Amino acid sequence: MAGKKNGLVCSMCGAHDSSANPVVTVFEGLNLCTDCIKFIDDARDAQLKKGARAESKGTEGENSIPKPQEIKKFLDEYIIGQEEAKKYLSVAVYNHYKRIAQAAAPDDVDIEKSNIILVGPTGTGKTLLAKTIARLLDVPFTIVDATVLTEAGYVGEDIESLLTRLLQACDYDVERAEKGIVFIDEIDKIARKSDNPSITRDVSGEGVQQGLLKLLEGSTVLVPPNGGRKHPEQKMIPVDTKNILFICGGAFDGIERKIASRLNTHVVGYGHDESGRKKQRENLMRYVMPQDLKSFGLIPEIIGRLPVLTSLEPLDKAALRRILTEPKNAITRQYKKLFLLDGVELEFSDDALDLIVDKAIEYKLGARGLRSIVETIMVDAMYEVPSQPVKTFTVDAAYVQQQLEKAHFEKTRISEK
Ligand code: ADP
Repeated sequence: MAGKKNGLVCSMCGAHDSSANPVVTVFEGLNLCTDCIKFIDDARDAQLKKGARAESKGTEGENSIPKPQEIKKFLDEYIIGQEEAKKYLSVAVYNHYKRIAQAAAPDDVDIEKSNIILVGPTGTGKTLLAKTIARLLDVPFTIVDATVLTEAGYVGEDIESLLTRLLQACDYDVERAEKGIVFIDEIDKIARKSDNPSITRDVSGEGVQQGLLKLLEGSTVLVPPNGGRKHPEQKMIPVDTKNILFICGGAFDGIERKIASRLNTHVVGYGHDESGRKKQRENLMRYVMPQDLKSFGLIPEIIGRLPVLTSLEPLDKAALRRILTEPKNAITRQYKKLFLLDGVELEFSDDALDLIVDKAIEYKLGARGLRSIVETIMVDAMYEVPSQPVKTFTVDAAYVQQQLEKAHFEKTRISEK
């Protein structure tokens, strides 16, 4: 039987005291009914649980590592094609972070680190893959170019300086850096130049590979905080590379020939027509094995430290077309968003997209060229449209053609080479 008892009113919901929902004075000026007290209790419990979950995530609980299929799904949102590379990478990254989580409770099975090497033509998504993984995992990430590294004592950057960038990426939080990802681009450029390294000094080849080995296998190295060359008076930061994941990428131009000779296929380079030869080259890259990297000039020790080897496919017309529109941050989507901020709906017609792809292929610019082509096309519209009373703007093939001709796009590209 509900009825007024002590005349108190709940300060939160305004309910009157009743036997069904009694109101009590918590302290002077604050009266709460039973329903509201329960509500507050439940809310506090939920909050505590949420906090505990966040904490366990922070301590690298195994549950917080996305599963390989989840990693792949995330990669699918940003990277077109490259199914095999995405799969290999997802598994390797999952195992790597699971291994780090395991280290807290060591048993007699020591899971070895699995650094990754991606082989494939330039502009096919190697860097994008590494970058996207790092974004998903929210770990420090840096890209370094192997070509700037030289053996200690020679002109160029010391090998340890590649960790400087990683430290900078996380404000010198060494603990975070030690679980980061380093993408070493153009690893093929430090291949041994000759089969006999003793004839001439090979300071940017084998020497660098030897230096890299130390980082890849996991050891504590002294990193110059500002990069470049080490000098004696500089204070060094010790960084343990045991849990840093290294992803190396390279085009390995000409490796198809090594693969072909290993497979005993003589046709490469002697095919009947260009398209047939191209097809064979594309197919051959898929069969890349560690011994091909060795024939190319990587030392066996380095290859041993990059146990996950996978290849990326050249992007064909259909893939380029998809790259223009499908990824979450596709270039056309970015422009649409920019225009929308001015209240203008931007459309690209199908024939415009086809023409952009054709031009990227014609100028041999690949995926990387799609952006520069679209930027060239859009500059006038970006300049004029915000001041015009228009609600829609459509880019069609005629407009693409007109803008590229106006910008002398072809000529500027050629003069850049
Ligand atoms: P690589 O490292 O293989 O030389 P990148 O990953 O730097 O090539 O690719 C250059 C740019 O081209 C990327 O930033 C991206 O915009 C685009 N791109 C390349 N490959 C793909 C792909 N498979 N899917 C989506 N975009 C791609």
